[in-house]
Formats: sequence, structure tokens, C-alpha cells
Amino acid sequence: MAVTSSDLYPVSRLAAVQEATAKAGIDALLLTPGPDLRYVSGYDAKPLERLTCLVVPASGEAYMLVPRLELPAAEASPASRLGLEFVAWDETDDPYRIAADRLGRVATVGLADRMWAMSSLRFRDVLPDTRQVLAGGVLRELRMRKSAVEVAALREAGEAIDAVHRQVPEFLRAGRTEREVGRDIAEAILAAGHATVDFVIVASGPNGASPHHDVSDRVIQAGEPVVVDIGGQLHNGYCSDSTRNYCVGEPPAEYAAYFEVLRRAQEAACAAVRPGVTCESIDAAAREVITEAGYGEYFIHRTGHGIGIETHEEPYIVAGNAEAMEPGFAFSVEPGIYLPGRHGARIEDIVVCGENEGERLNLTPRELVIV
Ligand code: ZN
Ligand code: ZN
Ligand code: ZN
Repeated sequence: MAVTSSDLYPVSRLAAVQEATAKAGIDALLLTPGPDLRYVSGYDAKPLERLTCLVVPASGEAYMLVPRLELPAAEASPASRLGLEFVAWDETDDPYRIAADRLGRVATVGLADRMWAMSSLRFRDVLPDTRQVLAGGVLRELRMRKSAVEVAALREAGEAIDAVHRQVPEFLRAGRTEREVGRDIAEAILAAGHATVDFVIVASGPNGASPHHDVSDRVIQAGEPVVVDIGGQLHNGYCSDSTRNYCVGEPPAEYAAYFEVLRRAQEAACAAVRPGVTCESIDAAAREVITEAGYGEYFIHRTGHGIGIETHEEPYIVAGNAEAMEPGFAFSVEPGIYLPGRHGARIEDIVVCGENEGERLNLTPRELVIV
């Protein structure tokens, strides 16, 4: 099923956001370019020094301040379907003053989590008696619960990145650098239908022990395991993220031993997903298997992160997060084992909580792929 932007950014969302804003005791949300603005309006506005800001009052009409030269772009975006007023400002206007005059006396505003400090401080200047909080407090609750259409968009993203992982064996061989392999992977990510390449990790040998390694000029050697963690944003605005492990020839024996532990840990965490269980219990399900096998100190990060219109968003699958799973929660399950100076491995799938169990959106084999 191909997902369209009017399905993904339904007009009804604005009313839901206003209701949640009122409930949170916030007078208005001020949403500058970034994921929060995109979530509410579908407008993927350029982040610029000139202010674009969707003002969502708890009650009353929402409107969007836009620089006059950006007006055609705003009107052409899905935001135009919301029937809101576009307030175009000219080069010599002060858009913050315009916003303050229209808002009047307000006790609390919610700023987009990714608003630049430049803008938040200007809003503080023009609204000196107004308390500023994060809009994310309101929006996280909505963004965390994916609709069926959003899940379909993530499924599409999963299929696209799976197609890239299937091609990785063609790119990987001894004598090539991580960077060369990474370049081929980046091309494949775009060819598979992504609009952007967000990250390409090709971590060979000892680099595999650094979870957020990028690529380097290191030449891949025979007998080395390689961690490949890749993702991008699809044209539908939703993100992909999947990690698989490859080895150029036969892996070292100690690697093969812990890889099997990791595979069981990742399986256990995926199997633990169902409505009502806490996020931290899914982390624990993976961690227990790894700890029991004696590798606990080498699993140095949380088990996963939520994913949607951003690669990392709520909910986080981490000890201390007692949030209960609900259908529509979408997140990564990506335990890893990292032996400093030697090698490492991580297996990552995106999982969506369904009515009864989790559904994995990444389906390529999780076993070590020997190339
Ligand atoms: Zn990560
Ligand atoms: Zn990843
Ligand atoms: Zn991830």
C-alpha cells in the first residue's frame, strides 16, 4: 500500500494537538521548522534564520507566520489543507513582535523541541512574562502512538532498507575501504526509494566495537567481522534503521560464540513485545541473555529507540522507562556486544507493537552473513 501525505498528515491531527495542548495547560504551541512542525502540518519547512512558525493556540484558530518569500512553498505544502491563515511577513517586519501582538497575554507557550536558541530567546524578549516549556511534552504522547497509516509508512521504510542489506554482500570484500563500501551503500539507499541517506556505519574489525562508528579509510581484511548499520528517510517522511553483521570469510571463534548469544538476546527482546509490558522490560529481556552468558559489561547502550519521522524519538527502550507498550509504538530492538580493540556486533530490527505481539519490520536474515 502506497502511503500518501494526506493520509500521513491528516487534517484531524491539528484538533487533536489543540486538545492535548489545552489539557497540558499550555496556551499555545510555537512550532518552528523541524519534526514537530512536520508532524502537525506536514510542512517540511527549511530551517532558516527567517522565522517560520506555526502558532497552535489551545483554543481558537491556528496560523502560520511565514517569510513572504517562503509563502509559495508553505501554500504548496500539505499545511495548506488545514485551512489555516498564512501570515506573511516582509523583510523589514519583526515576526516575533507580530507573534507576540497576536498572542496577547499568555502564561505558557510550548516551543518546538528543535527550535533554535536564536528563536527561543527572541520569543523570550517579546513575551517576557510568559513561561516557556517544550512542545514535546504534548507532542510526544501523540507521536509515540502510530496510526495504521504511519505503521504502513514505516513498513515501507523497512522494506527499502532490507533491499539494501540484501545488496551489501556485493559491496563487501577484503581490500576495499569502509568508505568505498559506504559509498556504494549510500547509493543503494537512495536507489531503494529513500529521499535521504541519514547514516551509513561500516565498522570493520576493531571499529565494530564503537557503536556509532561512521566509515573510515581502514582497509577491510579477510576474516574480519563488519557491522553495517544503515538508514534514511523515505519520500513519505518516515525513517528506516537496520543493522546486520557480515564477515569477510570465516569469523574468529570467540566472535562466533558471542554472536550466537546476541542473536538469542535480540530474539528474546522482540518476543517480549506486547501491549502492557514496560519499555524497560524489553531492555531487560535482551540484557538478561547477554549478562547470563558473561558479556553484560560489553553491552554498553540501551536496547532501542522509538522511530517515526525522526530516527531517534520516544519511546526509549531503556532501564528506568516504565512506560507501558501500546499498539502503535514503533522502536528499534538493537542489542550489541562490543569487545574493545577486537570487534563487535549488533543486530537491529524495527518492531511495532501490535494488538497481541510485536511485528518486525526488518526481515533479512539475522544470522552472520559470510561474504
Ligand atoms: Zn544509534
Ligand atoms: Zn541503527
Ligand atoms: Zn537504531
